[in-house]
Amino acid sequence: MAKPRILIVYTGGTIGMIEDPVTKSLKPFDFSHLMDNVPKVKMLDYHIDNIQFNPPIDSSDMNPGHWMDIARSIACNYDDYDGFVVLHGTDTMAYTASALSFMLANLSKPVIITGSQLPIGEVRTDGEENLITALQIAADRDPNTGKPTVREVAILFENYLWRGNRSTKRSADNFNAFKSNNYPALAKIGLGIHFDRDALARPDTNRPLNPRFHLDTSVMAIDLFPGLNETVLRHLLSTPGIKGIVLRTYGTGNGPTAQWFINAIRETVERGVVVLNVTQCVNGGVRANRYLAGDLLAATGVVSGYDITFEAAITKMMFLFGLDLTPDEVRKCLEQPIAGEMTVASFL
Ligand code: ASP
Repeated sequence: MAKPRILIVYTGGTIGMIEDPVTKSLKPFDFSHLMDNVPKVKMLDYHIDNIQFNPPIDSSDMNPGHWMDIARSIACNYDDYDGFVVLHGTDTMAYTASALSFMLANLSKPVIITGSQLPIGEVRTDGEENLITALQIAADRDPNTGKPTVREVAILFENYLWRGNRSTKRSADNFNAFKSNNYPALAKIGLGIHFDRDALARPDTNRPLNPRFHLDTSVMAIDLFPGLNETVLRHLLSTPGIKGIVLRTYGTGNGPTAQWFINAIRETVERGVVVLNVTQCVNGGVRANRYLAGDLLAATGVVSGYDITFEAAITKMMFLFGLDLTPDEVRKCLEQPIAGEMTVASFL
């Protein structure tokens, strides 16, 4: 087989950061510094090119414009490479992974996102291992068919490969910083890289990539908490220009049964705003009819997000409104998975 061709898109993040000598805080640095610290990459017999953000950023500064840049870098070079590695800060990595999974429709090559908790220049860095494993996964092909093993957007971090739009940053400290709470790992990383072939997406490799770059940010999130009062809620619900709201509810999708609450949500839905019910719990999902508290909320016309993550929910809304769909069309698309981001059957 020919040498694997991999494109690295370096956006920034801790992996490439250095300490400011005066303030001692970490700030993003350029790609050549990063590669100088991982000489072992040369031991991989790959052809590797790179594109870098100028300047590289802390992922706390990431926005949908950057997602468009990453998606374009991949789409414009799609036919020239076997796989793509995106180096990214951990803070918003799960949002970027989710957004890319929707934007890169018909993806059938690996897009592996990774970063690290410690900068690449530090002795105990996790960055070297993460970068090398990400490159190996991006280059991995089925020996029988020659097709890429991973054909989706995934996050590689320490011991696991997770589906991107199922992932959440779960630790600000641990090297295993990511987890998918409702979907199995796509691979476990130990002495070897052990793929779970049943969990991996199997898209048709003959369909051409169908990238969509436009995202609409007229969306917001509202977190329920005991004590949320009618004035505050109505104020939030009437935010000008809002087309979609992710409502973060309790448990299996429950909210207060008080009439003022139900009325406020129903009136918002009737105004044409799409409201998506997503649980605050990290594991499990919305089962609207389990409790009266969920039933009443469902009857207002909110859409069930089943077991979708918050990161996937908010980016999916931006993506669907970016397609210029009507609120009813957006509702229909939210009810079904479009990139493996949720499981509906087990929640019906
Ligand atoms: N603040 C950093 C970032 O997200 C954290 C990290 O990379 O781990 O860019």
